[in-house]
Amino acid sequence: MKFEEYRISPHIKRSLAEMGFKKPTDIQFKAIKNILKGEDVLAIAQTGTGKTAAFAIPVIEMLMLNRPKGPSQKSVGALVLVPTHELAQQIAEVFQKIGKYTPLRILALFGSTDQEPQIKYLERGVDILVATPGRMFDLRSQGYIDFRMTKMLVLDEADRMLDMGFYDDIEDVIKFLPKSRQTLFFSATIDDKIKKLAYSIVKNPIRIQISPDDPVSKNIVHSVVMIEMDDKRFFLERMIKENPEQKMVVFVRTKVRADRVQAAMERAGIKSETIHSGKTHQERKTTMSRFGAGKNLVLIATDISARGVDIPNVDLVINYDLPEEAENYVHRIGRTGRGTQKGKAVSFCSTEEAETLLKIEELLGYSIAQQDFSELDYNETLMFSDAENRTFKDVMKEIAEFENIQKNRKKKK
Ligand code: ADP
Ligand code: MG
Repeated sequence: MKFEEYRISPHIKRSLAEMGFKKPTDIQFKAIKNILKGEDVLAIAQTGTGKTAAFAIPVIEMLMLNRPKGPSQKSVGALVLVPTHELAQQIAEVFQKIGKYTPLRILALFGSTDQEPQIKYLERGVDILVATPGRMFDLRSQGYIDFRMTKMLVLDEADRMLDMGFYDDIEDVIKFLPKSRQTLFFSATIDDKIKKLAYSIVKNPIRIQISPDDPVSKNIVHSVVMIEMDDKRFFLERMIKENPEQKMVVFVRTKVRADRVQAAMERAGIKSETIHSGKTHQERKTTMSRFGAGKNLVLIATDISARGVDIPNVDLVINYDLPEEAENYVHRIGRTGRGTQKGKAVSFCSTEEAETLLKIEELLGYSIAQQDFSELDYNETLMFSDAENRTFKDVMKEIAEFENIQKNRKKKK
């Protein structure tokens, strides 16, 4: 069924059409109708499957139906709790886009920014408050937010909230929200801890789980190639040069490596930008918006940016290093193939990382398809790198490495 045929406000249909959303994703198809009936929902769906709109569409619709003259002072119609600053902004933006033709008042609330504008906005009441726990508790205790009229609670990225230690905060929020509310619980993964939390805050929920057998979305084709550590940069160079139009995220293990890979690409004449914990919030924001707008096509990132954040139209994810936490594999490659799009992911695995690969495959429950390079192909990649300004020492080192590979390969045979 297309969104056009849904029994939702024409204002919502209009903005969905502008956003290019024609038909619902699986999770949206299942969640929206139950939420509109007023049910509590516990929804588990892989990253990139469109969970945000799965709750944003019905939350906006429900609030519109019960909104004779707008929110009263300091009140909140729906509270959406999220783990991070970035997510609060991103999700509020989705609400703003979908709610563009409605009069709903929507605010993203998070810490480490000036609270005065936030307080001012809260004064008149908001329909939808998308918040991280810290600042929200703070402003509530100062008397700027009134949750007595709140009708809906959404917990998004519940798994991440737990990882970040927000368990007690969530329990506290429940205490000051009205008992007669609707609760929507969204998570990419489910385990006993999440179940416990979920069942402590939702009532007889409708449980929706999308393809629980494979934690990777069906829209992503992913594979692994065996490449030795020191050769990886040449393969990256080759992949970028062979796919010059594609938008890609390259994941590395540490921030030092991120900067090194960027320098190596620079020597090969490839422009890229990095994002990691050594960058300020402002730098990260600028980098992400440049990448989002396609002004930079190669983003080199550590795991910090891998979860939840939605970057439009990523064609390819490269795991330059395998993630040490197996679970991050799913989050990383989930940056592509989002919504109704298709995506591709390739992981570079060196001999040292073979065990990490096994752990990832254990988590997935299957072996990742292996792409094979013929020996000739492999050696060609190393020989035809365009890296300029290589010092004589670099070249000698590369020759030595090259010989080593040859030796190792012979040994293996
Ligand atoms: P999740 O929270 O499940 O990781 P998001 O809600 O961030 O996923 O959505 C992932 C991407 O899919 C976003 O870029 C979003 O714009 C896109 N998307 C979501 N629903 C649809 C849809 N029905 N049609 C087209 N694109 C969609
Ligand atoms: Mg999400």
